[in-house]
Amino acid sequence: MKVLKFGGTSVANPENINRVKAIVQKENDKKIALVVSAFGGITDLLLQTSQLASNQNLAYKEVLTEIENKHIAVVKDLIPVQIQSTVLSKVKSDLNVLETLLEGAFLIGELTPKLSDKIVSYGELLSSFIISEFFKSERLDAVFKDSRALITTDETYGKANVNFKVTNKNCQDYFKTNTYQINILPGFVAASSNGDSTTLGRGGSDYTAAIIAAAVGAEILEIWTDVSGMYTANPKLVKQAKCVSHISYEEAMELSHFGAKVLYPPTIQPVLNKEIPIVIKNTFKPEDPGTLITKNNNKQGKTVRGISHVGNISLLSLEGPGMIGIPGISKRFFETLSLEGISVVLITQASSEHSICVGISDDDVDSAVNALNEAFAYEIESRKIKPIIVEKDLTIVALVGDNMKSHQGLSGKMFSTLGKNNVNIRAIAQGASERNISAVIKKTDVKKALNSLHEEFFEENIKQLNLFVMGVGNVGSKFLNQIGKQTKYLKEELKLNVRVIGISNSRTMTFNENGISLSDWETELANGEKADKEVFFNTVNALNYRNSVFVDNTASEAVAESYTKYLKNSISVVTCNKIACSSDYEYYKELKQLAKKYNAPFLFETNVGAGLPIIDTLKHLIASGDKINKIQAVLSGSLNFVFNNFNDTVTFHDIVKQAQEEGYTEPDPTIDLSGIDVMRKILILTRESGHQLDIQQIENDAFLPKESLETNSNDSFFASLKKHESSFQELYKNANDVESKLKYVAQFENGKAKVGLQQIPKGHDFYNLEGSDNIVLFYTERYPNQPMIIKGAGAGAEVTASGIFADIIRIGNF
Ligand code: ADP
Ligand code: ASP
Ligand code: MG
Repeated sequence: MKVLKFGGTSVANPENINRVKAIVQKENDKKIALVVSAFGGITDLLLQTSQLASNQNLAYKEVLTEIENKHIAVVKDLIPVQIQSTVLSKVKSDLNVLETLLEGAFLIGELTPKLSDKIVSYGELLSSFIISEFFKSERLDAVFKDSRALITTDETYGKANVNFKVTNKNCQDYFKTNTYQINILPGFVAASSNGDSTTLGRGGSDYTAAIIAAAVGAEILEIWTDVSGMYTANPKLVKQAKCVSHISYEEAMELSHFGAKVLYPPTIQPVLNKEIPIVIKNTFKPEDPGTLITKNNNKQGKTVRGISHVGNISLLSLEGPGMIGIPGISKRFFETLSLEGISVVLITQASSEHSICVGISDDDVDSAVNALNEAFAYEIESRKIKPIIVEKDLTIVALVGDNMKSHQGLSGKMFSTLGKNNVNIRAIAQGASERNISAVIKKTDVKKALNSLHEEFFEENIKQLNLFVMGVGNVGSKFLNQIGKQTKYLKEELKLNVRVIGISNSRTMTFNENGISLSDWETELANGEKADKEVFFNTVNALNYRNSVFVDNTASEAVAESYTKYLKNSISVVTCNKIACSSDYEYYKELKQLAKKYNAPFLFETNVGAGLPIIDTLKHLIASGDKINKIQAVLSGSLNFVFNNFNDTVTFHDIVKQAQEEGYTEPDPTIDLSGIDVMRKILILTRESGHQLDIQQIENDAFLPKESLETNSNDSFFASLKKHESSFQELYKNANDVESKLKYVAQFENGKAKVGLQQIPKGHDFYNLEGSDNIVLFYTERYPNQPMIIKGAGAGAEVTASGIFADIIRIGNF
């Protein structure tokens, strides 16, 4: 004989019930017990309507109507018209009783646990009756059997304890004599020895099936649900979770105890003793192999089997000097909780003798606190013990595996993974069987914690990076296109799964938790909501993804000011915007410190020399113990472009205009021509070399006439260039006369930095610099005479985008 159990989603509507029928029919003539849950969502509605009724809220009637309609609709759909009225009249008579019970609760304004169980039992009673009538009408050899006649419990309503002696005998007697092939039974419901309806706890239909399977010594217990088995983590929260093909009873029990809802925790116990295998199967994908749960014969295998979590946990702590050396405090503590019927989900490792800390369900907090404060009233009064300390809104995450005990370092790996992702651990516990290690964390960190742990323990080195990109102008759009083209390579060769989750420009912004399509991001962005920097940050923060990176491709001061917020929430920042690093030294320093403190890289390679690896090289020199003595550099691709193309056959105005049009200057060209941009760059290099400098300390030998510098629009700026053409021609002529070229040079030496136009003679490293190229000479202790030279294209959207890309990869390798 086999026992098959179908959960709420599996019987949620006529279409699904037909799937159940098809699965059952595959069993041919084999005898089966078919345990069913209430139609999906009905138990919740029953609990809701009874709460409303007992609060004397008339809205209970609407919920009741919803319940009634759902059942009647299923009957009308599944049962042939000829016999519909008989079935309908039985269903309606049950619904009438239900209505009377709810009226009772409404009138008295009270809901006893006994009445609640009576009401809620109608979910399973109705579903099993309707399904059995449907099967019969389809000529299956089926019969309905009320589980209350088989499963006897005590009177602990809501989660009753089974009297196995009586129950086993009832089940054995019934199935021995009964000759039907398919026996359809309601899950979850049972009866006390007086015949009152009881229930086995939320999710308890699994348990019903296990009790019957164990009683009759079934060959197998099949749990049919809406997922293809037990996964390495809840598949609804961890997209990369994988189905585990085979797992031991103990591992399954541990995973379900810590929240893997796919199996109700008490389910394992009855079948474990008889070694009846359990299979978890998917009603919607019956061809999937599912998960087989048996005795553990495999002592090798994977160390960590799964990661689960239980939400709505509170920590209770009892602390105080009066606890030291006094025997019996823990006994009283646990006894008090036990007398209140409160189950302790987790006991933490106490750091010292004068504290006990346990995790319990949020729902039990009030009664636990009252009872404990009362039990220790004397000690609290005499200040030997502090009143109970409560922390709410927590979650337990647990790593589970039979073979964990034979491996060192797993807890270290677990905690460092959480730490790296800035998940604060409130308490830890390790089961005595060493089959689990659990950590208590904030509820809001659950998704991040599960995904980081899953990545660490199950996803062969693939690291996910979640990007939030602000600014999709010239550079930003090229950057997105470059990532789009490289996604496959990054995954296969660098083991990086780079996803763009959010994009914003100055008008709109969009988020997509599955990753924005990089071939069509423009459409997604155009259809996005109104852009707002605050909302953008709040969304990134609320999504709380591990390895989140904020990418700033703007030139905005306000955006640069927002970096602290990102870093403080462990969100890395990659930017080509120079404002942050060249503003006050204090701000630059703060950003660096935050990056360190919150383990979130702050990278800005493109601030100097676009995609050239200048800052990275500098960092490596310093990290390896070198010291920078002098820097000489041509750092402005824009000015280089301008002076390389300017001569006595063209006008300065036209060349600057061309540079602007071709994207070699900032949108406001004065930022380049005044030298400010170069000042910012040399400032950043000196700071990165370890010197504390501010922009005001940099000497700027400006070559633009004062009037041009003081213009306040692009038009007036260009007009002033026209007006002063002769002065520019003079600069050219003076240089040309001595066979030199004009270069805008930045220099740092002896703690001082300056920028300005210089005449560069033939033979100098700078003389042959072409187009918009940049060049940097680092004179260091190791390179005292022959400098280290970095040279190449130092401006342009494509190379800048690739520099940002390189920073992203650096974070991937971090
Ligand atoms: P049923 O109504 O069929 O009893 P449940 O909702 O009780 O179904 O249990 C199935 C659900 O359990 C899945 O949809 C999934 O969201 C959840 N779940 C949590 N942890 C796991 C896990 N580790 N593996 C599979 N499912 C899990
Ligand atoms: N219907 C009950 C519940 O929702 C029992 C079950 O489905 O297992 O909790
Ligand atoms: Mg369930």
